[in-house]
Amino acid sequence: MLQIKKFPLGMIAANCYVVWSDESRKGVMIDPGGYSPALEAYVRDNEIVIDKILLTHGHYDHIGGLYEAIKLTGAKVYIHKDDADCLISANANISVMFGMSASFDAADQFFKDGDEIDIADGYTLKVIHTPGHTPGGVCFYCEKARALFSGDTLFCASIGRTDFPGGDYQILMQSLKRLMLLDDDVMVYPGHNADTNIGYERTHNPFIA
Ligand SMILES: [Zn+2]
Ligand SMILES: [Zn+2]
Repeated sequence: MLQIKKFPLGMIAANCYVVWSDESRKGVMIDPGGYSPALEAYVRDNEIVIDKILLTHGHYDHIGGLYEAIKLTGAKVYIHKDDADCLISANANISVMFGMSASFDAADQFFKDGDEIDIADGYTLKVIHTPGHTPGGVCFYCEKARALFSGDTLFCASIGRTDFPGGDYQILMQSLKRLMLLDDDVMVYPGHNADTNIGYERTHNPFIA
């Protein structure tokens, strides 16, 4: 079975997810926004082998724990190329807005819209490019597990801000339309706050017509 474990990390509690198959104990980590002893203990205690760190976008609150996550897992870092600058530029990753200047090594790999990223045991994550919050923002969709990791594109009854550099409200609306093509039963695991599902968002999200 696919296991999905959420850790709200960092100063504004961005949701980091450890997504792994308990059959082979292989998995991926999404958005390590900070360091957490609980996250480290979870990965170690469950003996999870994580070979990919996947970033929904390059904002500092989602990448602040990157060095610790790499040290813990030895995994490669993946991002969309349109957010690649965020790793190396404190202005691009808006850490300057958090009162610091943070930069990281460049990503190891870039994914693009439609890529299928292997987790393990037949579970994959399809990359859905959803610009609007950032140019290189993406969601990850696991069809087999009926799960969408929506980053800062879609939240429970809300959507991502579009007033940061590279943000665009109209483009975000187009991205949300693509997400609404998914079925109502798909669970949504956002970059902040509570889980939701596509059906609930279709009927309750004030930004979705
Ligand atoms: Zn963001
Ligand atoms: Zn965020």
